[in-house]
Amino acid sequence: MCSVTETLNWNKMPDTSIGRVTRLGRLALKCLVLITVFAAAFQPCLAQGKKRIPESWKLGTASGLFPDFTPGTLREVKKSGIEHMELNWKAELVNGTPADRLTFAKNLYRDATKAGILIWSTHIPYGKKLDISETDPEKRPAILRDVKEYIDLAMEMKVRQIVIHPSTEPIADSVRASRIQACRESLKELAAYCRSKGASLNLECLPRTCLANTSKEILQILDGIDEVGICFDSNHLLKETPEDFVKAVNKRIRTVHISDYDNVNERHWLPGKGIIDWNKVISALVEVGYKGSFMYEAVKKADNDYSFKDLKPNYESLKKAWIN
Ligand SMILES: [Zn+2]
Repeated sequence: MCSVTETLNWNKMPDTSIGRVTRLGRLALKCLVLITVFAAAFQPCLAQGKKRIPESWKLGTASGLFPDFTPGTLREVKKSGIEHMELNWKAELVNGTPADRLTFAKNLYRDATKAGILIWSTHIPYGKKLDISETDPEKRPAILRDVKEYIDLAMEMKVRQIVIHPSTEPIADSVRASRIQACRESLKELAAYCRSKGASLNLECLPRTCLANTSKEILQILDGIDEVGICFDSNHLLKETPEDFVKAVNKRIRTVHISDYDNVNERHWLPGKGIIDWNKVISALVEVGYKGSFMYEAVKKADNDYSFKDLKPNYESLKKAWIN
């Protein structure tokens, strides 16, 4: 009996082992299937983990695309997916009184905040009357006094970045060096003023014969003026690619103006309409560690009936193309 039982048990052993092996096999197979499914499901996430638009790049736009600054419009802007804005001062306010400008700034700050929009930046008005590269020492103090008023107004709206143009145009080669020198003197004074106010001033790269029309020249202008950052305008570079500019000026970029062009002149088109390779521009901005907002500066013209509502879909398509 005993031996039979043993035999039987012994005989059953291989069966049991086979059963266990089979169960283990099934379990292993299930695990393998699960791992495969898990890996397949998460692969895009892993890829995105490596290649992701920085969280801080909130969608923003220059206020030129706003029909007005009423609370209703600001709510519509926010509803369209825009979180940040840059204020472009309208001519009637630039030509108005300081009191008008201050009232406007206070109201805009209140209404934009209520609508959930951050006034990320303001653009100091430009033109002959506000040209910081003015070489006449008699005229410069009044120009700088006016610029300082716009810095004060920016602080009233608690903006993060202030954008300023280095010059007007045209600039002949014969006076370029003296205009650069005057611009540097102005920037040193403005940098000291911004330091006392806790403001962040940024010099914008410009096209054609304007000052700062290349990465080399903007760095030359800012040499030794470390407090001033750079506003990278993607459609202003006519002598180098936007991505090469970004890599050259690197960490000095604190804010951006995003739009497309044909490399013949500035156009302020929506990305995709011109010749810019946006994957390269976005990669360069990620590479230099840009942390600001993704601020569009598309301009509405007769042939481009842009609306602020076009921006979110445009930004989404840029992000998707870059991630993939
Ligand atoms: Zn610009």
